[in-house]
Amino acid sequence: MIGILGGTFDPIHLGHLRTALDVKERLALPEVRFIPLRFAVHRDQPGATPEQRLEMVRLATAEQPGFVTDDRELRREQPSYTLHTLQSLRAEMPSETFCLLLGSDAYQGFLGWHQPEQIMQLAHLVVMKRPGFQLPADPALQAFTSDRETPDATTLAHQQAGLVHFMEVTLLDISATDIRRRIQSGTSIRYLVPDPVAQFIRQEKIYL
Ligand code: ATP
Repeated sequence: MIGILGGTFDPIHLGHLRTALDVKERLALPEVRFIPLRFAVHRDQPGATPEQRLEMVRLATAEQPGFVTDDRELRREQPSYTLHTLQSLRAEMPSETFCLLLGSDAYQGFLGWHQPEQIMQLAHLVVMKRPGFQLPADPALQAFTSDRETPDATTLAHQQAGLVHFMEVTLLDISATDIRRRIQSGTSIRYLVPDPVAQFIRQEKIYL
Protein backbone atom coordinates (compact mmCIF):
# COMPACT_ATOMS: atom_id res chain seq x y z
CA MET A 1 0.00 0.00 0.00
CA ILE A 2 1.45 3.40 -0.89
CA GLY A 3 0.35 6.95 -0.13
CA ILE A 4 -0.11 9.62 -2.78
CA LEU A 5 -0.07 13.30 -1.89
CA GLY A 6 -0.81 15.60 -4.79
CA GLY A 7 -0.77 19.34 -4.44
CA THR A 8 0.37 22.64 -5.78
CA PHE A 9 3.24 22.71 -3.27
CA ASP A 10 3.61 26.44 -3.85
CA PRO A 11 5.64 26.01 -1.65
CA ILE A 12 5.73 22.64 0.15
CA HIS A 13 5.67 23.23 3.93
CA LEU A 14 5.85 21.41 7.25
CA GLY A 15 2.04 20.99 7.28
CA HIS A 16 2.35 18.72 4.23
CA LEU A 17 5.41 16.89 5.49
CA ARG A 18 4.39 16.23 9.10
CA THR A 19 0.89 15.02 8.16
CA ALA A 20 2.28 12.76 5.41
CA LEU A 21 4.66 11.28 7.97
CA ASP A 22 1.78 10.73 10.41
CA VAL A 23 -0.16 8.80 7.77
CA LYS A 24 2.94 6.88 6.66
CA GLU A 25 3.62 5.71 10.21
CA ARG A 26 0.02 5.02 11.17
CA LEU A 27 -0.66 2.90 8.07
CA ALA A 28 2.90 1.49 7.95
CA LEU A 29 3.25 2.69 4.35
CA PRO A 30 6.66 1.95 2.85
CA GLU A 31 6.24 4.95 0.56
CA VAL A 32 4.47 8.28 0.20
CA ARG A 33 4.70 9.92 -3.22
CA PHE A 34 4.56 13.67 -3.49
CA ILE A 35 3.17 14.64 -6.89
CA PRO A 36 3.24 18.37 -7.72
CA LEU A 37 0.57 19.34 -10.22
CA ARG A 38 1.39 21.28 -13.37
CA PHE A 39 -1.69 23.40 -14.05
CA ALA A 40 -4.16 23.75 -11.24
CA VAL A 41 -7.70 22.90 -12.29
CA HIS A 42 -9.56 24.28 -9.27
CA ARG A 43 -7.53 27.30 -8.23
CA ASP A 44 -5.28 30.20 -9.21
CA GLN A 45 -2.09 29.29 -11.00
CA PRO A 46 0.97 28.94 -8.77
CA GLY A 47 3.50 31.71 -8.04
CA ALA A 48 6.59 29.53 -8.51
CA THR A 49 7.40 27.76 -11.78
CA PRO A 50 6.77 24.00 -12.10
CA GLU A 51 10.53 23.40 -11.99
CA GLN A 52 10.90 25.45 -8.82
CA ARG A 53 7.98 23.70 -7.11
CA LEU A 54 9.45 20.31 -8.08
CA GLU A 55 12.87 21.28 -6.75
CA MET A 56 11.34 22.46 -3.45
CA VAL A 57 9.54 19.10 -3.09
CA ARG A 58 12.83 17.30 -3.82
CA LEU A 59 14.70 19.36 -1.23
CA ALA A 60 11.96 18.85 1.36
CA THR A 61 11.67 15.07 0.96
CA ALA A 62 15.34 14.17 0.42
CA GLU A 63 16.11 13.36 4.04
CA GLN A 64 13.06 11.20 4.82
CA PRO A 65 13.29 7.53 3.83
CA GLY A 66 10.13 6.47 1.95
CA PHE A 67 9.24 9.98 0.80
CA VAL A 68 9.40 9.98 -2.98
CA THR A 69 9.12 12.90 -5.41
CA ASP A 70 7.16 12.01 -8.53
CA ASP A 71 7.24 14.42 -11.50
CA ARG A 72 4.69 12.68 -13.75
CA GLU A 73 2.17 15.54 -13.67
CA LEU A 74 4.84 18.06 -14.54
CA ARG A 75 5.81 16.01 -17.58
CA ARG A 76 2.23 16.20 -18.90
CA GLU A 77 1.23 19.21 -20.95
CA GLN A 78 -2.45 19.12 -19.97
CA PRO A 79 -4.14 20.18 -16.74
CA SER A 80 -3.57 17.78 -13.87
CA TYR A 81 -6.48 15.49 -13.16
CA THR A 82 -6.03 13.10 -10.27
CA LEU A 83 -7.86 10.41 -12.25
CA HIS A 84 -5.22 10.43 -15.00
CA THR A 85 -2.42 10.37 -12.45
CA LEU A 86 -3.94 7.35 -10.72
CA GLN A 87 -4.48 5.61 -14.05
CA SER A 88 -0.82 6.05 -14.92
CA LEU A 89 0.27 4.81 -11.47
CA ARG A 90 -2.07 1.82 -11.81
CA ALA A 91 -0.55 0.96 -15.21
CA GLU A 92 2.89 0.83 -13.57
CA MET A 93 1.77 -0.97 -10.41
CA PRO A 94 -1.23 -3.17 -11.25
CA SER A 95 -1.50 -4.92 -7.89
CA GLU A 96 -0.62 -1.99 -5.59
CA THR A 97 -3.14 -0.36 -3.26
CA PHE A 98 -3.14 3.45 -3.43
CA CYS A 99 -4.21 5.72 -0.59
CA LEU A 100 -4.86 9.22 -1.82
CA LEU A 101 -4.00 11.61 1.04
CA LEU A 102 -6.28 14.62 1.16
CA GLY A 103 -6.55 17.51 3.56
CA SER A 104 -10.09 17.84 4.89
CA ASP A 105 -10.47 21.16 3.04
CA ALA A 106 -9.70 19.38 -0.22
CA TYR A 107 -12.18 16.62 0.67
CA GLN A 108 -15.00 19.18 1.00
CA GLY A 109 -14.67 19.83 -2.73
CA PHE A 110 -13.98 16.24 -3.78
CA LEU A 111 -17.31 15.63 -5.55
CA GLY A 112 -16.49 18.55 -7.85
CA TRP A 113 -13.33 16.81 -9.07
CA HIS A 114 -13.16 15.17 -12.48
CA GLN A 115 -14.85 11.71 -12.20
CA PRO A 116 -14.77 11.14 -8.43
CA GLU A 117 -16.49 7.73 -8.79
CA GLN A 118 -13.73 6.54 -11.10
CA ILE A 119 -11.08 7.85 -8.73
CA MET A 120 -12.65 5.66 -6.03
CA GLN A 121 -12.20 2.62 -8.26
CA LEU A 122 -8.46 3.25 -8.25
CA ALA A 123 -7.70 4.41 -4.70
CA HIS A 124 -8.81 4.78 -1.10
CA LEU A 125 -9.08 8.27 0.35
CA VAL A 126 -7.34 9.06 3.60
CA VAL A 127 -8.70 12.39 4.79
CA MET A 128 -6.30 14.20 7.10
CA LYS A 129 -8.20 16.35 9.52
CA ARG A 130 -6.90 19.91 9.34
CA PRO A 131 -7.48 22.56 12.01
CA GLY A 132 -11.09 23.71 12.05
CA PHE A 133 -12.32 20.56 10.29
CA GLN A 134 -16.01 19.78 10.46
CA LEU A 135 -17.80 16.85 8.90
CA PRO A 136 -19.11 17.67 5.40
CA ALA A 137 -22.20 19.86 5.40
CA ASP A 138 -23.04 19.04 1.80
CA PRO A 139 -25.71 16.28 1.79
CA ALA A 140 -24.26 14.69 -1.37
CA LEU A 141 -20.82 14.46 0.25
CA GLN A 142 -22.40 13.15 3.46
CA ALA A 143 -24.08 10.34 1.53
CA PHE A 144 -20.89 9.63 -0.43
CA THR A 145 -18.97 9.47 2.86
CA SER A 146 -21.38 7.23 4.74
CA ASP A 147 -21.43 4.70 1.87
CA ARG A 148 -17.66 4.37 1.97
CA GLU A 149 -16.30 5.37 5.35
CA THR A 150 -14.33 2.88 7.39
CA PRO A 151 -13.30 3.82 10.94
CA ASP A 152 -10.86 0.90 11.01
CA ALA A 153 -7.62 1.68 9.16
CA THR A 154 -6.68 -2.01 8.88
CA THR A 155 -9.52 -2.60 6.38
CA LEU A 156 -7.72 -0.38 3.85
CA ALA A 157 -5.18 -3.13 3.24
CA HIS A 158 -7.88 -5.75 2.58
CA GLN A 159 -9.43 -4.08 -0.44
CA GLN A 160 -7.66 -2.34 -3.32
CA ALA A 161 -9.76 0.85 -3.51
CA GLY A 162 -13.05 2.53 -2.70
CA LEU A 163 -12.90 3.32 1.04
CA VAL A 164 -12.74 6.65 2.88
CA HIS A 165 -10.87 6.84 6.16
CA PHE A 166 -10.59 9.95 8.36
CA MET A 167 -7.36 10.28 10.25
CA GLU A 168 -6.38 12.72 12.95
CA VAL A 169 -2.99 14.13 12.19
CA THR A 170 -0.70 16.58 13.93
CA LEU A 171 -2.44 19.90 13.71
CA LEU A 172 -0.20 22.45 12.07
CA ASP A 173 -2.04 25.53 10.96
CA ILE A 174 0.36 26.22 8.11
CA SER A 175 -0.71 27.03 4.57
CA ALA A 176 1.19 27.92 1.43
CA THR A 177 -1.00 31.02 1.08
CA ASP A 178 0.18 32.29 4.47
CA ILE A 179 3.81 31.53 3.60
CA ARG A 180 3.58 33.51 0.32
CA ARG A 181 2.04 36.43 2.23
CA ARG A 182 4.83 36.43 4.77
CA ILE A 183 7.43 36.52 2.01
CA GLN A 184 5.63 39.44 0.35
CA SER A 185 5.55 41.35 3.62
CA GLY A 186 9.21 40.63 4.27
CA THR A 187 8.77 38.46 7.39
CA SER A 188 10.48 35.16 8.11
CA ILE A 189 9.18 31.76 7.01
CA ARG A 190 11.60 29.89 9.25
CA TYR A 191 10.08 26.84 11.04
CA LEU A 192 7.22 26.79 8.53
CA VAL A 193 9.18 25.16 5.70
CA PRO A 194 12.33 23.00 5.82
CA ASP A 195 15.49 25.13 5.92
CA PRO A 196 16.71 24.03 2.45
CA VAL A 197 13.35 25.14 0.99
CA ALA A 198 13.58 28.56 2.69
CA GLN A 199 17.11 28.90 1.36
CA PHE A 200 16.01 27.98 -2.19
CA ILE A 201 13.14 30.51 -2.08
CA ARG A 202 15.58 33.22 -0.99
CA GLN A 203 18.16 32.27 -3.57
CA GLU A 204 15.66 32.17 -6.47
CA LYS A 205 13.75 35.23 -5.18
CA ILE A 206 10.40 33.45 -5.47
CA TYR A 207 7.07 35.04 -4.35
CA LEU A 208 8.46 38.55 -4.00
P1 ATP B 1 -2.64 27.00 -0.56
O1 ATP B 1 -2.59 27.77 0.75
O2 ATP B 1 -1.82 27.65 -1.66
O3 ATP B 1 -4.05 26.68 -0.99
P2 ATP B 1 -1.95 24.48 0.77
O4 ATP B 1 -1.05 24.87 1.89
O5 ATP B 1 -3.36 24.11 1.12
O6 ATP B 1 -1.89 25.61 -0.36
P3 ATP B 1 -1.65 22.47 -1.35
O7 ATP B 1 -0.42 22.22 -2.11
O8 ATP B 1 -2.80 23.08 -2.05
O9 ATP B 1 -1.22 23.32 -0.03
O10 ATP B 1 -2.11 21.16 -0.57
C1 ATP B 1 -1.91 19.84 -0.99
C2 ATP B 1 -2.66 18.93 -0.03
O11 ATP B 1 -2.12 19.04 1.30
C3 ATP B 1 -4.15 19.25 0.08
O12 ATP B 1 -4.86 18.01 0.16
C4 ATP B 1 -4.23 20.03 1.38
O13 ATP B 1 -5.49 19.90 1.98
C5 ATP B 1 -3.16 19.35 2.23
N1 ATP B 1 -2.60 20.25 3.27
C6 ATP B 1 -2.02 21.44 3.09
N2 ATP B 1 -1.63 22.00 4.26
C7 ATP B 1 -1.97 21.12 5.24
C8 ATP B 1 -1.85 21.14 6.69
N3 ATP B 1 -1.31 22.16 7.34
N4 ATP B 1 -2.32 20.06 7.36
C9 ATP B 1 -2.90 19.03 6.68
N5 ATP B 1 -3.04 18.95 5.33
C10 ATP B 1 -2.59 19.99 4.61
